[in-house]
Amino acid sequence: MKIQQKLNQVIRKYHNSYKTSEIHNMAGIVVEVKSAKVLAYAGNTYEKANDHANKVDIVQAYRSSGSILKPFLHERMLSEGQLLPKMLLPDVPYRDIKNYSELYEGAVPADEALARSLNIPASVLLGRFGLTKFKNELKDRGFTQFTKSSTHYGLSMVIGGGEVSLFELAQAYCNMASNLNVKTDPYKFTLLNYTQSSSERRRKKAVEPYATYLTVKALKEVVRPSSEVGWQNFEGTGVAWKTGTSHGFKDAWAVAITPEIIIAIWVGNADGEGRPGMTGTKVAAPVLFDMLDYFRPLAQFNEPAAEKKAVEICTRSGYFRSEHCESHSVEVYPSFLADGKLCPFHRTLYLDTTLQYRVNSKCYEVSQMVKKKQFVLPPKLAWFYQRKHPNYFVLPPYFPGCESGQGVIDLIYPRELSSIYLPVALDGRKQSVIFEAVYANRETTLYWHVDEKFITESKGSHRVALNPLEGVHKLTITDAMGNELIRKFEIMPSKQ
Ligand SMILES: [Zn+2]
Repeated sequence: MKIQQKLNQVIRKYHNSYKTSEIHNMAGIVVEVKSAKVLAYAGNTYEKANDHANKVDIVQAYRSSGSILKPFLHERMLSEGQLLPKMLLPDVPYRDIKNYSELYEGAVPADEALARSLNIPASVLLGRFGLTKFKNELKDRGFTQFTKSSTHYGLSMVIGGGEVSLFELAQAYCNMASNLNVKTDPYKFTLLNYTQSSSERRRKKAVEPYATYLTVKALKEVVRPSSEVGWQNFEGTGVAWKTGTSHGFKDAWAVAITPEIIIAIWVGNADGEGRPGMTGTKVAAPVLFDMLDYFRPLAQFNEPAAEKKAVEICTRSGYFRSEHCESHSVEVYPSFLADGKLCPFHRTLYLDTTLQYRVNSKCYEVSQMVKKKQFVLPPKLAWFYQRKHPNYFVLPPYFPGCESGQGVIDLIYPRELSSIYLPVALDGRKQSVIFEAVYANRETTLYWHVDEKFITESKGSHRVALNPLEGVHKLTITDAMGNELIRKFEIMPSKQ
């Protein structure tokens, strides 16, 4: 059977089953990775009466993307060294964004967050990456409908705030797969060979092939939700896939990525009518898996060549190991990932002999203190995390009389913490503001944290340059004997 016949047959089969649930339209496209040629194309379902706009070519229609664009952000951030494969990302209610399940786990490793398609970690990543930068990234990848200002889309850009066509999706995923293909020049973006003309190529910002490899790996190896019916049949094969569902269950997407072919499926109603529970996982993925069956045996993606080095990774946080981490493993990472940030979640705590209280040198005999390296999440993350991880160690209170060791460390600059303006250089770039702490013993090291994230350490003069974003922040400075200083400060919009 020809590929086109198979696609027609699969679409007909699922159309017959879905129309009883008032889901009337479907589209699919199969693309060969090495040539960027369209091997099969089904623009819609067939209904003789044509009651449901069955003659509209939905492969070319623009619809809300749901989660289907998340891998492109993940891939780019890995490539730029802004993300590590197992780095913990926040998973707590964030602005007006919700996870599909409306459940939150406090913190989730990046690869798992992608495989499970959690909205919060993806939105947090987009915030870190930058809205305009991601909008340009999507344009570079051939998505034509992101024409409004980046603030119009906001963080929802990566979870369905913009529109894509099935054709554009197949094209972008085809380029992702070809980035892993040694025979293809990774610096070029190939347009699908849809018309009679030969495939066009244009310059595009390179993505490290190993970043693509790690993204694809996350999409195929991490344990999938049990609701993804049919994936078990493809476990261990070379296939990776991503699903997406738009707001209001209007669009169900599923894309399969293999070294040789890309299959992209859309299911929904052409008139935009949503159906409760109509998700990419439930209705588009079965069509995808049925179609994939045709292409067995599926080739495996080869690990691309990359300069690598051994790095020490914190077992608990997935960040690079800091001196406070309890345990770590040695991993071989591509060198573009190898200068990431140190684990921000481990701290060295000083406890009393019963381990029930935190203590410091002001209130407790230093020789009696018990030093403990401990995984400590910021309070909001910890609240959700401990419900999922009952063994989570809750930060103990201070020993009576210790009162957080205040007074041992003091901040002398800036004097006014309620309204700090970052100085602006002649070229318009914001500069840092200097914070200065005093401590009786100049030889002692102080550890600086902003919003519970470790920033740097100081010794001697205790002068540190910080440039946080506009807004209210929490500064915590600690020493090695449990003393700390906590201050809130606010960065104001810059004066031009
Ligand atoms: Zn750690």
